[in-house]
Amino acid sequence: MNSMTLTNTEIRDYLHGKNDTELFAAADRVRREVFGTDVYLRGIIEFSNYCKQDCLYCGLRRGNRSVRRYRLTTDEILECAGEIGDSGISTIVLQTGEDPWYSDSDIAEIITAIKSQYDIAITLSLGERKKETYQLWREAGADRYLIRLESFNEKSYSDARPGTVRKDRLNCLETLRELDYEVGSGIMIGLPGDTVDDVVIAIRDLTAMHLHMIGMGPFVAHNQTPFAEETNGNVDIVLRAYALMRILNPTANIPSTSAMESARPGGRMRGLQVGANVIMPSFTPKRVKELYNIYPGKNVQQDIDEDGLQAALAMIEKAGYNISWARGDSPLKGKCSN
Ligand code: SF4
Repeated sequence: MNSMTLTNTEIRDYLHGKNDTELFAAADRVRREVFGTDVYLRGIIEFSNYCKQDCLYCGLRRGNRSVRRYRLTTDEILECAGEIGDSGISTIVLQTGEDPWYSDSDIAEIITAIKSQYDIAITLSLGERKKETYQLWREAGADRYLIRLESFNEKSYSDARPGTVRKDRLNCLETLRELDYEVGSGIMIGLPGDTVDDVVIAIRDLTAMHLHMIGMGPFVAHNQTPFAEETNGNVDIVLRAYALMRILNPTANIPSTSAMESARPGGRMRGLQVGANVIMPSFTPKRVKELYNIYPGKNVQQDIDEDGLQAALAMIEKAGYNISWARGDSPLKGKCSN
């Protein structure tokens, strides 16, 4: 397989399962050339499950009256950050729905407080914000920002995310890049209305963006949303998308997401074997972890019942890879990525 000459037809054929053995072996070969067998760890703190948006697929949508809401205080967030820092993990991910309750300066102060105590990378996943806000957080010490595009089909995007415009998210990505963040994006595969051809377009367009991080997961129907009766995304197609993304984006950090595990037990481990090189154990306090319920099974039961980090470490070793405690900055960092 020559990745430089993968045509759209070939990508489509692989997504349909033309030759999984060849595809997965090629992806693992590329990941080993760039990252060896290392799997980077990112400790994630989901510090609020409030959201002002109303995405039709998401359990945190503001219209869901059945979810019990929580917000962590600054002290609680810093306590979780301390657990991550003390564990030896070198990246903290701060994630919420779009919750304006925390002011921009509240978040900046949290970033500064973490950075003053730990030599650690900070990734933010806090949704669409103004340029001034992104700038403030960058100056406070944030290193990376994740903002998924979710779908490259304009119609299914606007159907699934009422009141939002895909172009605004693209603009956010451009702004973040200008501010010298490591930038990540990605898609949900199997969103109602999307087809495999939309995944082909997404793979092409995300590749053209030269991203530092690429996150993908299957759509998983949540019974408290308008998409409750829709069919889950096909995990086999997601695994093939992981492999194609790795082949086309050798240096990208690609997490094997918890949605993989929700959709198919063992899915997150399989993701590592077909190109992913990052795992993100949750350090959200156990008493609220289950409430960060974007999709059913998020923060999978195993991670709630057991120590989430120990479960992740055991899974990485079982998959046949090496646990890395390094920051795992993007190999593209500091280079022109356009
Ligand atoms: S997908 Fe994100 S923005 Fe949309 S409702 Fe859920 S948390 Fe909010």
